Amino acid sequence: MLNYKSNKGGGPTVDFEKAIMDGYASDGGLYVPAYLPKVTHSDLNQWKSLSYKALAFEVLSLFIDRSIVSAVELRLLLDECYDTFETKEVIPLHQLETRDETYIMELFYGPTLSFKDVGMSFMVNLVNFFLKRKSEHLSVIVATTGDTGPAAAHFVAGKSNLDAWILYPKGLITKAQERQMTTLPHTNVHPVGVFNCPEGSDDLDVVISQLYADDTFKNKLNLSSVNSLNWGRIMMQTVHYFYGYLRIAKEVGAPVNMAVPSGGFGNLCAGGLARKMGLPIHYLVVANNQNACLNRIFTQGVFSKQPIHETVSSAIDILVPINFWRFLYFNVERDSTKIKEWMETFERTGQVIFDAETMAEYRKGFLSKSISDEQTLKTIKNVFDKENYLLDPHGAVAVAAADQLKAQLGGHPLICLATAHPAKFSETLERLLGADQISRAARHPSIEEAKVKCQKNYTCHYSHLHSAFKETMNTHWDLHHPS
Ligand SMILES: *Cc1c(COP(=O)(O)O)cnc(C)c1O
Repeated sequence: MLNYKSNKGGGPTVDFEKAIMDGYASDGGLYVPAYLPKVTHSDLNQWKSLSYKALAFEVLSLFIDRSIVSAVELRLLLDECYDTFETKEVIPLHQLETRDETYIMELFYGPTLSFKDVGMSFMVNLVNFFLKRKSEHLSVIVATTGDTGPAAAHFVAGKSNLDAWILYPKGLITKAQERQMTTLPHTNVHPVGVFNCPEGSDDLDVVISQLYADDTFKNKLNLSSVNSLNWGRIMMQTVHYFYGYLRIAKEVGAPVNMAVPSGGFGNLCAGGLARKMGLPIHYLVVANNQNACLNRIFTQGVFSKQPIHETVSSAIDILVPINFWRFLYFNVERDSTKIKEWMETFERTGQVIFDAETMAEYRKGFLSKSISDEQTLKTIKNVFDKENYLLDPHGAVAVAAADQLKAQLGGHPLICLATAHPAKFSETLERLLGADQISRAARHPSIEEAKVKCQKNYTCHYSHLHSAFKETMNTHWDLHHPS
């Protein structure tokens, strides 16, 4: 049986179900599998013609014990998740005509139009499956830079065993993203807009950690987490790397590069782990915007927190890429003592400088660039003019980074991950290209419909968020779950 433990080494070893239901490990670390399953070229050859869902079944079966989720149950869960996507393909690949073998992996056909749907749909449905089996109720709190919140809200909505509390930095996400959360009528979805977050959504994570650290409160509400420190989302996100590779590689073993717009490193952690499992990805490109913590890690060996910049790719305005700690664990021979020391040094001082040997190890197979807003917008315009194809600002960060690294990437096929539908960023795109030009590509019916609905309007100031939020959650609980 594949068990899970904390990358910091504390707390017990747990089974898959507990790792998912807990979210955080009890020592504040991130759950990691006790070993990484290996995938051979012969496995990959057999998987080459599978649909996304069928491939997901194969990959997830490596991580989930059948005694916990049976084959039939896993297939049903995958149907429930991915039949809600707009295309039957789930994750289509669009080839750019005017470039050498460049494909856009369109990860935004889920119900809330971002790549968060890919992992969150599975996470929430899986948590709900476990809760129903045990007749339990759970509350989750998530902070969002704009896409996690809508995805969590959508998949939790109407599920009677779950409540979702969602904190978002007011004014720092797009109106479309805000409406995706606030127009849901379901009484188990609670979005809260927080004013005056000095460091954007990273501030909200601080408050959430404080709430989780309060055992009485945590136990009363049965609090858990579905943010990207939950292993379930990382595991699910490995699948699109396998899928993209198998669709594009001329034969199993041929080099394919992938460029990924990154903030919290959840998506790329999954890509890095897929490669360690045996998927022959050539280079993974860590594409940052001006908030370039990952870029500093991969080019200078420094993990440091710097002031936030507001950018046009706001979903990756993230200062602390928490999933890097999970990935690093697999690069230091699973030495949890080292991980614990680094994580604690970072919490204490806001900076860790890695030794040359460690850096050489985790950098293998990665390249990185930090992209300015100017470069992002130029890339959108360039691709739109030449290809009549509209990238969202995050997909554009990936394409721009790959452009800058062209020489190092060699002439191999390239997949750029497009993580959001342009309709979520239509204001920026209209300003750039003119409203008539982009009208069709930057509209989506679900975004348009939300414009004419009533919005829930819970708000709070960051200065008193902790106490106010806790009281609201408590009151809601007492009203709806009288003991
Ligand atoms: C969350 C998000 C990302 C970043 O993913 P990480 O796993 O945090 O690196 C990129 N693009 C969009 C549109 C997102 O919503």
